[in-house]
Amino acid sequence: THDIWIIGGGLAGSEAAWQLAEAGFRVRLSEMRGVEGTPAHQTDGLAELVCSNSFRSDDADNNAVGLLHAEMRALGSLIMREGDRHRVPAGSALAVDRDGFSDGVTAALAGHPNIEIVRERVDALPASEPVIVATGPLTAAQLAGSIGAATGLDSLAFFDAIAPIVHRESIDMDVAWFQSRWDKGDSHDYINCPLDKEQYQAFVQGLIDGDKTEFKEWERNTPYFEGCMPIEVMASRGPETLRHGPMKPFGLRNPRTGKGAYAVVQLRQDNALGTLWNIVGFQTKLKHAEQVRLFRTIPGLQNADFARLGGLHRNTFIRSPELLDGTLRLKSARHIRFAGQITGCEGYVESAAIGLLAGRFAAAELAGQTLAPPPGTTALGALLGHITGGAEADSYQPMNVNFGLFPPVEGAPKKAERKLALTGRAKRDLEGWIEENRLLRAQSRSASS
Ligand code: FAD
Repeated sequence: THDIWIIGGGLAGSEAAWQLAEAGFRVRLSEMRGVEGTPAHQTDGLAELVCSNSFRSDDADNNAVGLLHAEMRALGSLIMREGDRHRVPAGSALAVDRDGFSDGVTAALAGHPNIEIVRERVDALPASEPVIVATGPLTAAQLAGSIGAATGLDSLAFFDAIAPIVHRESIDMDVAWFQSRWDKGDSHDYINCPLDKEQYQAFVQGLIDGDKTEFKEWERNTPYFEGCMPIEVMASRGPETLRHGPMKPFGLRNPRTGKGAYAVVQLRQDNALGTLWNIVGFQTKLKHAEQVRLFRTIPGLQNADFARLGGLHRNTFIRSPELLDGTLRLKSARHIRFAGQITGCEGYVESAAIGLLAGRFAAAELAGQTLAPPPGTTALGALLGHITGGAEADSYQPMNVNFGLFPPVEGAPKKAERKLALTGRAKRDLEGWIEENRLLRAQSRSASS
């Protein structure tokens, strides 16, 4: 017998199981590896890192993911505890010995009196039992079908189509301008960057010649639609294709010249705060360094600071901003919570962080309490906010934690001090949230002892 069921023993499911078990609840943790593999995992270990062995920056003062590390440690994270124990030298980053890390997580969960690990593939969501679904980017097909049936099939994606995202403050508004095509809708919905014929042709050639990442063999077998075709594939179809696609200039007039441009790159607001803007239609398999170089040749983006670069991968995720409530429950079936990358966060640390929150929310609920989400000024709260409401549902795409998700600090400090101001505020606000929720304090004390 158990109080709650967790499906998927990856980064998110392992962390959620730990948080619930430490809070005194009995957990059934189902993991299919051991019975059936995924195209990317190599072992049967829980919380296996499928690619890099890095948790990225560990700098909690100047980096958003470093701040997330610190917040997770403060809440008794198992993933961070084992990450710290299995640290390998990597400068200011936290990199781990992947086998030691996964073995440590597996042993902690297997040895916990409140956790039962079951090696099984789950094919359907339960009708009423409380569950956390943490089956990740490579969710097995049968369960994906069941999730699709519960959420509506067009709310479940099998590929991400990631367009680069730019920090608003780095866009040169002396070159770019606000305008909606044919002046429909709010004029502040789009930022436009003009290219002349020569610039356009050089840019198209750059896309065609640029260094690209190949699809992996198993990714090629998953169908993907015309709607998320990489921009360089469009460019290779003919010199004018982009001018009639994502770079069309029609219905737009540059207020500085009073004329239209030969081609226009448009950016659309990506978060409710208006701090992040995505380059519309620019999903790409170009290598990251190539993207930075090439996209900075676009007038107005010469100093662009990228919150995220473009990509295209096999990735199962739901349209969370529309489907989930503020504590990660499916609005249409509140016994079901989602956690990890399937909610549309991106990265090992972010997936574990959302697992931590799902575990905490579920534990509070099982105890007959409610837990308010962490403040949006903290890394946990900012990431959760992106998933459960901050992002546009229609164009929702996975995202790493980054400072663009945080509300700006009052009084707009200078650039050099901005990060310190954001992380200082986050630390105070997380402390306040922990204070207000005595339950959490007790839990984090028992977890760290
Ligand atoms: P996972 O860690 O994948 O865990 C999900 C678990 O659910 C798996 O163990 C799976 O076996 C199990 N499962 C799936 N379906 C079922 C089912 N029906 N029944 C029972 N169990 C099931 N992030 C980074 O930060 N750095 C990287 O370098 C990186 N590289 C990546 C490379 C690839 C190829 C992929 C696909 C992703 C990569 N990611 C990377 C992104 C992401 O952060 C990781 O995939 C992360 O592991 C996601 O955590 P998760 O817990 O959501 O999913």
